[in-house]
Amino acid sequence: MSAAIPRSLHDLSFSEIENELSTAGISKQHAKSLWRAIYRHGVTDLHQHDFLPPLARWIHESIGEGKKFFLDQPALDREILSSDDLTRKFLLRLNDGQVIETVLMGYDARHTVCVSTQAGCAMGCVFCATGQMGFVRHLRPGEIIAQVLHAKRVLHEMNPKARLRNLVMMGMGEPLHNIDAVHHALATISDVRGISIGPSKIAISTVGVVPGILRMASENWPYRLAVSLHGSTEDERAALVPASKRWNLESLIDTCRHYGSTTGKRIFFEWTLIAGKNDSPETATRLAELLKGIDAHINLIPLNPTGGFSGTASPSGVQFQKILRNAGFPCTFRQRRGIDVAAGCGMLKAEKRSHQKPRAKDECDKIVT
Ligand code: SAH
Ligand code: SF4
Repeated sequence: MSAAIPRSLHDLSFSEIENELSTAGISKQHAKSLWRAIYRHGVTDLHQHDFLPPLARWIHESIGEGKKFFLDQPALDREILSSDDLTRKFLLRLNDGQVIETVLMGYDARHTVCVSTQAGCAMGCVFCATGQMGFVRHLRPGEIIAQVLHAKRVLHEMNPKARLRNLVMMGMGEPLHNIDAVHHALATISDVRGISIGPSKIAISTVGVVPGILRMASENWPYRLAVSLHGSTEDERAALVPASKRWNLESLIDTCRHYGSTTGKRIFFEWTLIAGKNDSPETATRLAELLKGIDAHINLIPLNPTGGFSGTASPSGVQFQKILRNAGFPCTFRQRRGIDVAAGCGMLKAEKRSHQKPRAKDECDKIVT
């Protein structure tokens, strides 16, 4: 038995699984049935599943406590349901005790999972609950994938016909600060043999990590890019987004221009509207000027309250929106959903809340694996 540190099977790519099997003297052909079981059918107990004997033997010898591989199956600490029943926030406990948050949203028969990429975040945006808690650690690919598998299982329980079709990296953390793990996780999540969320239905939201955007452009990543902007001048932005001292507004916009022209893709710009900080007509006009020539869609997000920030939501962003629309940009409001369970944007932070509605015990047992 190998003395190596156990690895998560979810951290392995398809070809790495093939290699593992062939090193063990098993035909690579079995990789497909293992992959389908885990990622398409959501099998959680591989030991009980009906595999052909060579693969069943390999699973028995290689997966489990004290063996070469384990499965990432975070425990469900809490599940919190919004009052309209359409948003579920899961607090998932990782192997080292870290609690991360994943949100499943289902509106108009469109089901979307919002995943975390880090425990905490190093970027420190002043209005964001995750930023306020600071950085704890990066998530491994398997820990990102496990959130999607969890959401898929819950969705299947609620409605066996429903499919999870959309994914946004807008949970805890900055995806491009953990870019290798994100890259690996998304390859597995979009793999058609398994989870199969279409690349065009996957959005990576970044605070503006310039080297990461450049890599997405040069490697022509098939996913959507969303850039959280929030400010139309260096000062306006730096007051809200400390990371813009490292990658300033000018270099970020240049990078977006480069991304747009090399990939031909539209960029989504996120703009959290904060009263008196970034919601004036002058700011909207400057923003339109800044984005001139970029194929941009602007998403306005009403500020959600967080404990560490005293700013308030803009009373109305209608004029702001109008200015951008008149300048020719598609500009929409992100609906304020899930607010009552602290699952709105920037409200994700592992904390105990008084209005949690955990699932009934027996229902929970089915999910906690
Ligand atoms: N780190 C990435 C993705 C996670 S944050 C990023 O910053 O883009 C996801 C989105 O929520 C970002 O657009 C962010 O600006 C926004 N957000 C954070 N805190 C918020 C708050 N309190 N109210 C509204 N939007 C918020
Ligand atoms: Fe991090 Fe995004 Fe929150 Fe900023 S808004 S602190 S980048 S999670």
